Amino acid sequence: MLRYLIALLFTVHGAAAQAVTQAEVMAGSAKLYREQIDELRKGYRLDDDQRFGARVAALAHPLIEQAKREFPESAAWDWELHTTTDGDANAFAMAGGKILLSRAHVDELALTDAELAMLLAHEIMHAVLRHNLKEFEEALRLEPARATQPYPEFEHDIDHDHALMRKLATFNQRQEMEADREGLLFAMRAGWSPQALAAYFRKLAKQSHYPNFDRFDHPSPASRWRAARELAKQMDASR
Ligand SMILES: [Zn+2]
Repeated sequence: MLRYLIALLFTVHGAAAQAVTQAEVMAGSAKLYREQIDELRKGYRLDDDQRFGARVAALAHPLIEQAKREFPESAAWDWELHTTTDGDANAFAMAGGKILLSRAHVDELALTDAELAMLLAHEIMHAVLRHNLKEFEEALRLEPARATQPYPEFEHDIDHDHALMRKLATFNQRQEMEADREGLLFAMRAGWSPQALAAYFRKLAKQSHYPNFDRFDHPSPASRWRAARELAKQMDASR
């Protein structure tokens, strides 16, 4: 009953979104990132391919510098970039600019530098567009009672509570499309050709099974390729 009343209160005042802050999300992400990094380090799988790490760093650093200029909030972040040859790890970026990239995905698609830049730009967009925080806010909108839940539990549920994850799937698909679109435009501003960037999505779509990367809340590879191709065409026409 109390939970219900509190939920009602939050709904009425529309204040539920304030129950989670960017600072909280960043601190939570930093902790989860550290755990995964430590795990990889223990298994000697952290930054274990020097050549690959150097390639990723050379592509990522100019993009991160650009992110700091274009999204001033992110200039104060403690950005981190690591790589691994562990095929179980995903390519991801968490709140606060914590990036991990697995070589498995890059090898599997034989990504060119432009395509790898597209992947990195997509991940960077998730961070600077505060996609983690927005997902929490959407979860609160869908389930206002969560405003009373301790943050660590809420954070766990966002990634493990299947009922909640299903409710968030459409929202997350929109965030994926946004990271694709804004990532392509962002990497284009860094000097990459839109066609060369969009080719990343052609490769994704061509490969019907790509383990360790896609999740159920990602839009279909075919629709991502369609959107990227259209955008690249528009950008080429306006250049
Ligand atoms: Zn994504």
